[in-house]
Amino acid sequence: MLENHLPTAELQALDAAHHMHPFTDGGALNKKGARIITGGKGVFLTDSDGNRILDAMAGLWCVNIGYGREEMAQVAANQIRQLSFYNTFFQTSHVPAIELAQRLAELAPGDLNHVFYNGSGSDSNDTNIRIVRHYWATKGKPDKQIVISRWNGYHGSTIGSGSLTGMKYMHEQGVPMIDGIAHINEPNWWADGGDMTPEDFGLMRARELEAKIHELGEGNVAAFIAEPVQGAGGVIVPPSTYWPEIQRICDAHEILLIADEVITGFGRTGKWFGSQTMGIRPDIMTIAKGLSSGYIPIGGSLMSDEVADVINDGGDFNHGYTYSAHPVAAAIALENLRILDEEGIVERTGSVVAPYLKAKWESLTDHPMVGEAKIVGAMGSIALTPHKESRAKFAGKQGAVGYICRERCFANNLVMRHVGDRMVISPPLVITEAEIDLLIDRARLSLDEAYDKAKAEGLFKVA
Ligand SMILES: *Cc1c(COP(=O)(O)O)cnc(C)c1O
Repeated sequence: MLENHLPTAELQALDAAHHMHPFTDGGALNKKGARIITGGKGVFLTDSDGNRILDAMAGLWCVNIGYGREEMAQVAANQIRQLSFYNTFFQTSHVPAIELAQRLAELAPGDLNHVFYNGSGSDSNDTNIRIVRHYWATKGKPDKQIVISRWNGYHGSTIGSGSLTGMKYMHEQGVPMIDGIAHINEPNWWADGGDMTPEDFGLMRARELEAKIHELGEGNVAAFIAEPVQGAGGVIVPPSTYWPEIQRICDAHEILLIADEVITGFGRTGKWFGSQTMGIRPDIMTIAKGLSSGYIPIGGSLMSDEVADVINDGGDFNHGYTYSAHPVAAAIALENLRILDEEGIVERTGSVVAPYLKAKWESLTDHPMVGEAKIVGAMGSIALTPHKESRAKFAGKQGAVGYICRERCFANNLVMRHVGDRMVISPPLVITEAEIDLLIDRARLSLDEAYDKAKAEGLFKVA
């Protein structure tokens, strides 16, 4: 591990002077100083002061096999020596791209047998917009252009994928939605379900898709995109009625279904893909994050035989990135898939991690500030509330209590993220039972401290 770095205060000053952070209030951070992460092994990070932090977010939902695997370093080094870069634009290919494509076709459900490689989740969703529009134009239906997504869904931060993303605070800041994108509401029963049962509410929210298709005209709608389980929106697990109804609507109206599996793919939900957990049959899947466990950036658009046939019949597909099918990234992804498979990590996530973590996670609802606890596989959330029975929001700024809780977690060497007043986890899938116990102990301590602080600051009030 690299220990010969500058002292923390000097690193923080240089960071403040020169480094612009994503999704951050830079002014506030620069006054305070960033926490400097210097190393990672398994589920633990090390910071520049020598603290060991349990990373219950797997980086950004991506480090599925855990940090610091020696095999990954070897594969990257070997691939760099063998072929450090070549493109696949001009009627060329290379071994890692071919082997990874074959492996993805084997793993992906149904006939999702074809991959277009990208560098990230965001540009994969940009690719998906291009694919579905070109698909329908090639099929002689050039008016089918609109992609429907959901408010509070997350699909990336480029102009295209950011338009699909349903975070209004992003649209307000220079991501004006591009033409041909429409949004429907999310199946977030805790926040919006009122007096309905979760099942009735799930059906109602799914049927908003059908209403939107009617409003826009079926002949103008290309696709619907959604995460099988919303991640960045706060790990919103849809009611059981939701996905079957969405699938029915897509089938009935000739709408392509895009499952954004950037988080839910590669074991996160206890199966290889969230579509399998949720019982859906997408035409296209977005993959990134867990595809390489975050060791090197890579993303992809997986598509069905039918979609690929149409695109391949459509002449030149005028799209691609310099780093589409980067050989080092592809080799790293292949090794990651080998580790996930041969070490039984996906299987263990479903049979061991999921039930153990679920029991512990749901026990947090006995805390005075915790309303519902939701969890699928190894992605979970708890809703913080000043009044459980009425599922009330806090008075004052939304997310203020969640922010306090996150700060307490970080101080207690636990990375748990807040999305408004929901706390979310998505730990490396290799987490052991003892590490889950530690996660829950630190979460409880942090909840207690956040509860005391919220009360002391007068924030523990019903809106
Ligand atoms: C993170 C994420 C993206 C964007 O991926 P990047 O690699 O950050 O561009 C897209 N969709 C979902 C569901 C994500 O969680």
